[in-house]
Order: sequence, then structure tokens, then C-alpha cells
Amino acid sequence: MLAELSPALIAEVKLAAKLLAAKQHICILTGAGISAESGIPTFRDKQTGLWENYGVEDLATPEAFTRDPKLVWSWYQWRRQLVADKAPNPAHHALAQWQYHAQTSDQQVTLITQNVDDLHEQAGSSVTHLHGHLWRNRCGQCQTPSQDQPRTSYDNRNTMSFDEALLTCPHCGGYIRPDIVWFGEALPIQAWQIAEEAAANCEVFISIGTSSLVYPAAGLAQLAKQNGAKIIEINPDPTPNTIVDITLAEKAGVILPLLIEEITAL
Ligand code: NAD
Ligand code: ZN
Repeated sequence: MLAELSPALIAEVKLAAKLLAAKQHICILTGAGISAESGIPTFRDKQTGLWENYGVEDLATPEAFTRDPKLVWSWYQWRRQLVADKAPNPAHHALAQWQYHAQTSDQQVTLITQNVDDLHEQAGSSVTHLHGHLWRNRCGQCQTPSQDQPRTSYDNRNTMSFDEALLTCPHCGGYIRPDIVWFGEALPIQAWQIAEEAAANCEVFISIGTSSLVYPAAGLAQLAKQNGAKIIEINPDPTPNTIVDITLAEKAGVILPLLIEEITAL
């Protein structure tokens, strides 16, 4: 499989594997790019069809929901429908396999995601979500979790209605919204604490499929670097991240199975 890559990239994968196999504390941050090969578009991909004339500011901000709750709710119902039948790709599976392997070695592999899909969970990973969950709802006014919400987001997928009609909260009458952190909103405190601690204490930080533009998540790599960690980036396109020590410029679904195979073989 390694033979499919350029000699320069193979050398970088081997270098990264050697570094990772020798370290105990690893922190991984994933972004929309890791789910792209599962068929879930990133926000940077051009929106298609119905939604091509809308920007993120029209659809994924608290102001947008206040201005036009029906539009925002319809968009999320459309996204849920789009994501409902998507499955983890080799990148998600490789990370889950690494976490499983780490249980019997002395490695600690902390996985943090900016994604709101549940593909890491479906692959079997334990993961902290910084930006919330696509499959959960809560009241936009009193913040009460939506009553019909089953315990896990995964179980919820087959039962959730994709109806575009707005729902109202039985407690306060406010509109129900997806339990997602929109642009301009604060991150969940507990998830952010886990992420900060893992980034500050890791020896290697791996950034996968994220443009490193969305703060505060993008600051985690800097925090890791300040505390002496090496930084590895997996992304087919260059990012503004200038603190990277090893760049693996290929799709996550290609690189991760190879990288994890190398690490676990060492
Ligand atoms: P982003 O800023 O994380 O950018 C996507 C990055 O992925 C780009 O740098 C791109 O070059 C890279 N990429 C594309 N294909 C890749 C591949 N196969 N392997 C590795 N990297 C690849 O994400 P965004 O789309 O700008 O979204 C910003 C925020 O919106 C996210 O942090 C998230 O909260 C939300 N979002 C979530 C999902 C999801 O849950 N799947 C999807 C879209 C947006
Ligand atoms: Zn309410």
C-alpha cells in the first residue's frame, strides 16, 4: 500500500510513525476533511442545489436563527438527511483501531473533533466533540435538551424526523434548534477543558482535515507547540498552519491506515 505514495511522502509517513510510536501522549484534532471521503461536504466545498446561494453566516450563526429560524432549521434537517446514511471511512476506522491498540500499550490517544457527525463513534472511537452534535436538539431559549432525544445520537438517526416544520419547547415556547456550536458561540466548557488539557500535555499533536481557520479549536495546535509537542498535519491542501513539523499532504483515508499500520508494527 505504501508503494502507491511518492517516495518523499513514504519517507514522511515513516518519520511520523517512528515519532508517534516512541511517544506516550498523543492528541488528535479532526475537522470536516476527515468526513469528506464519507461523502459529507465540508463548508469550504461549494454548496449545491437548494442551498448554493446561502453562506455560513446565513445558516450557522445565532443571528441567522433569530432572523429566520425556519431557514436555519430547514438547512439542518437537510444536512441530517444528507448525513443519515453516511458511514465511517478508512480514516475513522484507523483512528479507532489505534485507540483500541493503545489500551494495551502505554499510549494515551485523545481524540478531539470539530465535527458534528458521529462517524468517529460509529467506527468505535472515544471522542470529545468541540462543536456539538448534529443528531441532538435543544431549546434555543431555555437550553433544555429536547425531550424526545434518545440517549445516544447514533440510535437517534433512524427515528428523527426530517420535517422542516419548526418545533417549540414544551417548557418555554422557544424554538428548538440543533445542539451545535454555531459560529460566534462559546464552546462547551467541559469539552474545551478536555481538549486544552490534552493539547497542553501531549508530546505529539496531529491535526487532520481541518483548515486551521476556526478558533478557538485552531489554537490547540499552538498550545501544544508552546508546551514542546511536535505537530503533524494531514491535509491534501496546504493550510496557514506554520508550526507544523511533519506535513502529510494526502487524503486522511489514504494516510491514516498506512500510518497506524506502521505505528502498531513498530
Ligand atoms: P475545516 O475548516 O475543518 O476545513 C476542511 C479541511 O479539510 C480543508 O483544509 C481541506 O483541505 C481538508 N480536507 C478535505 N478533504 C480532505 C481529506 N480527504 N483528508 C484530509 N483533509 C481533507 O472545515 P469546514 O468545512 O470549514 O467547517 C468548519 C466547521 O463546520 C467544522 O469545524 C465543523 O464544526 C462544521 N462542519 C462539520 C462537518 C461534519 O461534522 N462532518 C462538516 C462541515 C462543517
Ligand atoms: Zn425552552
